[in-house]
Amino acid sequence: MSSTQSAYPDTQLFIDGAWRAGTRDTAVINPANEAQIGRLALAGEAELAQAADAAARGFSAWRKVSAFERSKLMRRAAQILRDRTEQIAAIMTMEQGKPLAEARIETLAAADIIDWFAEEARRTYGRVIPSRADAVRQIVTREPVGPVAAFTPWNFPINQAVRKVSAALAAGCSVVLKGPEETPASCAALVQAYVDAGLPAGVLNLVFGVPADVSKYLISHPTIRKISFTGSTAVGKLLASLAGEHMKRATMELGGHAPALVFADSDVPRAAKLLAAAKFRNAGQVCISPTRFLVEESAYEEFTQHFVATARAIKVGNGLEDGVQMGALANGRRLEAMERLVADAREHGAKVLTGGERVGREGFFFAPTVLVDVPLSARIMTEEPFGPIAPISTFKSYDEAIAEANRLPYGLAAYAYTRSGATSAAVSNDIESGMVSINHHGLSLPETPFGGVKDSGYGSEGGSEAMEPYLVTKFVTEHR
Ligand code: NAD
Repeated sequence: MSSTQSAYPDTQLFIDGAWRAGTRDTAVINPANEAQIGRLALAGEAELAQAADAAARGFSAWRKVSAFERSKLMRRAAQILRDRTEQIAAIMTMEQGKPLAEARIETLAAADIIDWFAEEARRTYGRVIPSRADAVRQIVTREPVGPVAAFTPWNFPINQAVRKVSAALAAGCSVVLKGPEETPASCAALVQAYVDAGLPAGVLNLVFGVPADVSKYLISHPTIRKISFTGSTAVGKLLASLAGEHMKRATMELGGHAPALVFADSDVPRAAKLLAAAKFRNAGQVCISPTRFLVEESAYEEFTQHFVATARAIKVGNGLEDGVQMGALANGRRLEAMERLVADAREHGAKVLTGGERVGREGFFFAPTVLVDVPLSARIMTEEPFGPIAPISTFKSYDEAIAEANRLPYGLAAYAYTRSGATSAAVSNDIESGMVSINHHGLSLPETPFGGVKDSGYGSEGGSEAMEPYLVTKFVTEHR
């Protein structure tokens, strides 16, 4: 065990500036050994009502704080997170399973995201529109949309939350955040960083509960003006329709099934190595993970050999142990899903080149898995795996590759490896995807747009676009 291991804290609700108990509580499990490590408070309707009321008061106060002061406070929160990296990373690994190194990167990246939005807070410019009459002045201002309800999942316990919370706070909105019930303590550490930076009571509230009950309550609550959700497409569609029913703005960051196109003219060993690293990061529980590997026929043998070698070399184990490169899956549902997907692929004639099964009998470990000869009728070719399974297929022509890449209703991330400028330009034009990364893995920086098209959702959680959903436009015309 690393010397950074610390005790795992229980997590409470944070409402109106105070940590407090819920109507009941539940266990938090360490996915590496299935042991209970802590307790989590769950909100009932009474606590949700208090959180919404607190957010209404918080909004009245926070919208009057100048962008300059909001920005300064946010920078302090970023620094507090950085200072607590070791402690927070250990907590995240205990509740989520990812290796400590990945948990540290996530915490530090969260601080960078806060800094980015702190900078953006000061750039929510309006404009003056030339008028048709000398005595008339026409002004456009941007105002915060109002209290936000944000729903975030367990795969990146801090980073799924920090983007929504920080964009909202930068814009002058207050937030009720429903954090991930399975990985609550590191998300609570993010909230604590903001509290310790001086955020006024009510501006940021954290709740946990039965997800469907919490979302139904908050989305229909008159105080809430905007919702933002990260999770599966099925749940996203449900929440988007609920938001529509109540005329609430919505940002939806949903699933994907990212194609990775490897052309024969690429540096094939490098492509295999980088794609395998991206595929097995966070045990494949990443919405932008490359998940359908499409390799030009003549490069298939070389690619597969390097990819399998990289997969086999990955050290799987408890994320707190030194040298572990892939931890347990975050929950038992993912383990069962992996077993089902592999069994189904086998039934459809796929070959397992490495992995294909659970590792050990305790903890939710699944081996890095490579499948070949997988027909399109196998579920893994249509369903997002959200786990460490990589199906590799071949293509003969550019058109065939693009048709397969665009076959699914998803469009979040796409990857391509080629040395041809023409192919790279064509891929970036032809792929139906919110993000395209060519010859490297450069997605999800704070300053670059992050979001999908088609069933992968709408709205961006990165770049200056990420401020848009939290701002409304007001037009004022005045006669002297
Ligand atoms: P799930 O679909 O039940 O839940 C996904 C997330 O949505 C969880 O955080 C959950 O708490 C939340 N959720 C579920 N129902 C909700 C509701 N009615 N209202 C509000 N929130 C709700 O499944 P799961 O087993 O947790 O995850 C499985 C699938 O979810 C994965 O296969 C993947 O496709 C997707 N997922 C995507 C992301 C992402 O980053 N886009 C993250 C986690 C999970």
